[in-house]
Amino acid sequence: MKIQIIVLFLFANLFCSAQQKDVTTLLYDTYETYKEPSLRKRRIKHSDLQPLIEKYRKNDKFKVNRVGTSIEGRALSLISIGEGGTHVFLWSQMHGDETTATQAIFDIFNLFDSPDFEAEKQEILASCTLHFLPMLNPDGAEVFQRRNRLGIDINRDALRLQSPEGQTLKRVRDSLNADFGFNLHDQSTYYNAERTEKPATISYLAPAYNYEKDINEKRGNAMKVIVFMNSIIQKYAAGQVGRYNDDFEPRAFGDNIQKWGTSTILIESGGYLGDVEKQEIRKLNYVSILSAIYSIATENYKKIALGEYEKIPENDRKLFDLKIENVTYPLLGKDYVLDIGMNRLEVDKEDHDDFWYSSRILDQGDLSTYYGYETLDATGYRVTPGKVYPKLLSSIDALAAMDIRSLLKSGYTYVRVENIPSAKLASPFPIHMIGKRYEVPEFSIEVGFNPTFLLKKGEDITHAVINGFLIDLSSDKKINFKNAMIYR
Ligand SMILES: [Zn+2]
Repeated sequence: MKIQIIVLFLFANLFCSAQQKDVTTLLYDTYETYKEPSLRKRRIKHSDLQPLIEKYRKNDKFKVNRVGTSIEGRALSLISIGEGGTHVFLWSQMHGDETTATQAIFDIFNLFDSPDFEAEKQEILASCTLHFLPMLNPDGAEVFQRRNRLGIDINRDALRLQSPEGQTLKRVRDSLNADFGFNLHDQSTYYNAERTEKPATISYLAPAYNYEKDINEKRGNAMKVIVFMNSIIQKYAAGQVGRYNDDFEPRAFGDNIQKWGTSTILIESGGYLGDVEKQEIRKLNYVSILSAIYSIATENYKKIALGEYEKIPENDRKLFDLKIENVTYPLLGKDYVLDIGMNRLEVDKEDHDDFWYSSRILDQGDLSTYYGYETLDATGYRVTPGKVYPKLLSSIDALAAMDIRSLLKSGYTYVRVENIPSAKLASPFPIHMIGKRYEVPEFSIEVGFNPTFLLKKGEDITHAVINGFLIDLSSDKKINFKNAMIYR
């Protein structure tokens, strides 16, 4: 008898998890059908969302309410779906330049508006009511910055409540008395899963509600849902999940919302190799959030052991865009061995809808505890300064007509161009453009400098590093390159 019960129980469990696996796999596989096509890159603004929100205002499945106004007068909208007694509240982009989850929210709306996944959606909407507040900081989004118009970090305003955006978040949380809260952010792309070279593509946190980091039932439930989401995301980004630091921050919203009795889950979207606009990460957000909602609706998360949470590796911040290892660097007549860590820093164009890169050496020396999205073992290679091409070119077109790879191979990293239009912000070629009278400063490998140099093996120049991009000159492989600099 006992054995029969155990067998039955095991069978039921297996059946449940098999079913659930199917749903999340299907969500991942069918994602492109629901991806909101009008949102395609990280720099999105309030005006990009309004036509979509207006569309849902006219749709009976959705309830749209204006719940607040930003300092500059932009509407904050709450979009709700469902009839269930479990209230799930999701807010995104309290930091204006963290847009990945905002995009995923509109993908989720498309799914709920579609005729597909009917059984699962009914299951969710019968037991839950979902409330979404996308882009809590539209004024920051306008200029693609973290802070709001008052210049404060809204995530340090949960107690003082000086920002109308923070006041709105608190008011909505209180009026819903939400059972679950999802605090949706982006984190630096330079976070990795502790002691691995894998980026922390997604990081999770069940924020602490006191300095002791106690775990009550509410926080425990958040941890269990996180364990479930992690198990799903591991299938698509193995090893690329981190656990965010849980030090208590008394001024932060996540910590306070946990304290106010809502099981709160922080999701941070980090980096993913080659995914500059974070569209793959957006997809992982979509799958992660929907999986979490499904496990909340079915209460399946309750079966998860709390101890699994601690097994998710912690976040660390040990990644560079490019790391060159063990390179020989000659200085004042002697040779030294260095690792060099470089990052490509984004500079916004005036309208904050696009950017270019101005890269920097972030660190040098023994960087053996660090990793790179791209790494070159340069053992036996020598750092060599680049030269200025001796001829003055009349225009950018003249440069475009030249074989830039062979310029680099001949040791040139700068080209003098007579007419560089003032509107031109960066060189589209893997070589720097300099003005007629510009003097290139004395060469040095130094923290804070633009990473520009050549690598020599024997007498041959084999690689160029231009504005932090590595160009392999020994092969004709397509270069992963966005821009070099203009120095006037
Ligand atoms: Zn954030």
